Amino acid sequence: MNESDSERLSSGFTNMGFDATDDMATADVVVMNTCVVRQSAEDTATGVLGRLGKRMKGNPNRMIAVMGCMVGPEQTELKRRFPYVDVWARPQEFDPILETAGLKHGLDPEGCLVGAVSENPNVASFIPIVHGCDKFCTFCIIPYRRGRENSRPALEIVHEAEVMVARGVKDITLLGQNVDSYGHDIRPRVDLADLMEQVHEIPGLDRIRFLTSHPNDMSVRIIEAIRDLPKVCEMINLPFQAGDDTILANMRRGYTRGQFMDKIYQIKKMIPNVTLTTDLIVGFSGETDAQFERSMEILREVEFSKVHTSEYSYREGTFASRKMTDDVSRAVKKARKVAVDEFQAEIQSKNNATLVGTNLDVLVEGRKRGRLHGRSRGDKLIYLNVPVGTGAVEPQPGQTVQVEIKASSPWSLEAEPIEAKVQKEKVPVV
Ligand code: SF4
Repeated sequence: MNESDSERLSSGFTNMGFDATDDMATADVVVMNTCVVRQSAEDTATGVLGRLGKRMKGNPNRMIAVMGCMVGPEQTELKRRFPYVDVWARPQEFDPILETAGLKHGLDPEGCLVGAVSENPNVASFIPIVHGCDKFCTFCIIPYRRGRENSRPALEIVHEAEVMVARGVKDITLLGQNVDSYGHDIRPRVDLADLMEQVHEIPGLDRIRFLTSHPNDMSVRIIEAIRDLPKVCEMINLPFQAGDDTILANMRRGYTRGQFMDKIYQIKKMIPNVTLTTDLIVGFSGETDAQFERSMEILREVEFSKVHTSEYSYREGTFASRKMTDDVSRAVKKARKVAVDEFQAEIQSKNNATLVGTNLDVLVEGRKRGRLHGRSRGDKLIYLNVPVGTGAVEPQPGQTVQVEIKASSPWSLEAEPIEAKVQKEKVPVV
């Protein structure tokens, strides 16, 4: 979400006539976009801000803005601690930043943010569709910092997607803290399935994804849309966070282990080739070894394609910080995370090995550390090796090529493009 916000704001600055620089010390405008989902992230942000203030001292043209989750509704304390910050902007509050920069530099921000899409967007890009969250899980600061759910109009989203596709985007991920709840606050009612149908109509777009889901809002209509719309990738990130009912109740997740598993069975029944990923917190307040084992049972049963695991950390301002004790030691949290990571490495290693020798369609995204890479519909990271001396043409970012998987690891796959397909894609249409 933050990456997407930064791209939008950056595009607004470009439209105003600013150039980007990597050098914070000489920049006229520095915008720090903050993620403070963990206390440690907030501590890092305040540390950088302190150093930034010293480095930019004496530059009369300079402007510092802080945006994102660090900026809650109450800013008195932040303003006292960092008096040299010119603008404090809440998540997606782009206008005051552009207006202040415009005033300082005699530039007019009017209209610069409308449909702000980067001039050179990544082949795989993001569009936020719903901001904020209404769920109030006890460990989470997001609803207090990003506010209540607020869906963007479908027309605006579709227009933004059309502009992106015209600029070369092939794979769009629709984003929300709780993306499945999209549209509940819009009249007449629309939902994520309706929106995906509209985005699906855009010619030139190849793939649609969405992040992140809440098990209670993943409706049958959404599952049907994933199953029935060819451009929607068969992959779902469905966080379970804990496998024990008492821990789930203390987290106020709003479902039991049984309800979560029913949802998983329902999805697997409706979309047999689905890729499932999840989020898990280990060491939440009061979590015993036996309760942690309940989470491991779910991992063994579902065999997720990927698990994003966090050690629970005390987060000031949350319900858990006020009412619960962070009583699982750091060593135990770490050991539990290691257990999850080791188990997942085994599962991913085993499942990826079964793909060796098979063919997959890969959307080429670009180069990572010099290596051409792309992703499958199921979000597998695939490195492409084009054999030299065979006359095969190297595929370009934005092309979808069929590949044969040659090798695997828990985290990625190695593949060779199937020559005929690569050549075919390069033949100009007369
Ligand atoms: S659903 Fe996600 S964003 Fe919303 S409160 Fe829970 S963890 Fe935070």
